[in-house]
Amino acid sequence: MIQVIKNGTVITMDDKREKKYEKLDIVITEGEITELTENYQGPYDKIIDATNKIILPGLINCHTHLGMSIFRATNDNLNLQDWLNHKIWPIENHMTDEDVYYTTLLSCIEMIKTGTTTSNDMYFGVGGSLKAIEETKVRSVFSRCLTGKDSDSKKRIEEFKSLIKENQGKDLLTFTVTPHSMYTCSKEDLLEYEKIATEFHLPIHMHYSENQSEVEGIIKEYQTSPAQALKDLGYLNHKLILAHGTFISEEDQRILASHDVSIATNPVSNLNLGCGIADLVQYKKNGINLCLGTDGQGSGNNLNMFYHMSVVDQLQKAKYQDPTVMGSYDVLKMATINGAKALNLENKIGSIEKGKKADMIILDLNNTEIYPTVDLITQVVHNVESNNVDTTIINGKVLMENHKLTIEVDEEKLKENIHKIIDRLMEKEAK
Ligand SMILES: [Zn+2]
Repeated sequence: MIQVIKNGTVITMDDKREKKYEKLDIVITEGEITELTENYQGPYDKIIDATNKIILPGLINCHTHLGMSIFRATNDNLNLQDWLNHKIWPIENHMTDEDVYYTTLLSCIEMIKTGTTTSNDMYFGVGGSLKAIEETKVRSVFSRCLTGKDSDSKKRIEEFKSLIKENQGKDLLTFTVTPHSMYTCSKEDLLEYEKIATEFHLPIHMHYSENQSEVEGIIKEYQTSPAQALKDLGYLNHKLILAHGTFISEEDQRILASHDVSIATNPVSNLNLGCGIADLVQYKKNGINLCLGTDGQGSGNNLNMFYHMSVVDQLQKAKYQDPTVMGSYDVLKMATINGAKALNLENKIGSIEKGKKADMIILDLNNTEIYPTVDLITQVVHNVESNNVDTTIINGKVLMENHKLTIEVDEEKLKENIHKIIDRLMEKEAK
């Protein structure tokens, strides 16, 4: 099937092009971008009129937990350790695979409606989670979260290995190995998890240096810095996506920069949990690839990457008391092409280029409350709300068009099911 998106202004995120955005028609053939041209006159089966609209590569959320939608905004007045120990983990222990199906489904719809086409996800309840991801046809870098320090870690490893073997070669699905963090996994378990990355040639994705007390704990336990500890564990021999990295010493930045490491910063989550502000400007200067995550909705409030993009930009400018240290285009890169690089998907997604998969979104910025658009890139990073996301396309498949989902899902029924899950879990928690 040939689809053509006509008359739109395309922000390609392809630095090889002279202009950051231009009027182009996009031809999509069997899910792939086959032409980017002015005024396409060739054949087509479907046309999408993007007159006065903006086309952008689908956003890439480099750190999230899609199953956590029922914990949305539950972290008020709690630090990271108290929130996890008292509010999240006791409840998660009672969640079934079916619960995780519904909570992930809710997150997938949130992503489609807010313009995210790929997520880098780690959670448990993988059967349910995968079902929701496959039903909604979003692109996923997926994993079974591996914790340690208890007798179930062997079981989790087996579960994860079968998951990889059963899902080889799927177009929308790739995997990472995801030890939860250095503070929740024993050294022995971390070494076991590293072997899986070697066996299956997979990147590793983990929480890292999220707050000061975590960093102090790691230094005490390992008698060396967190980056050196990772190096000693063999983790830097792999493609590595470190979520948070709120506190990384200058020396550790140099260690990470000399390996294939990306920092997936989660500014909203870090602010809500009082973790601090990562020094992204310095990380970038030292040559570390920066990408953006929302974290789960528990600490990150929502999966709307536009909101998180605006926050990360403003935070760095405020931290440095200097508006020139970061810019909207840098931030947009973090949410698109840099994310693709972090996830080993830069040949497929992250920019609108001939030969790449057709993962893209169409924005309508014509509503009065954000009118007019003078500087397009800044407007996209700082003023786009979910209601501006008009159309979402993944792998050439239109999942939302003119604000209407094209996938079959009964949203009211889903909300009912989510409420039932919350009621049941709260009842258990109260006992
Ligand atoms: Zn997280």
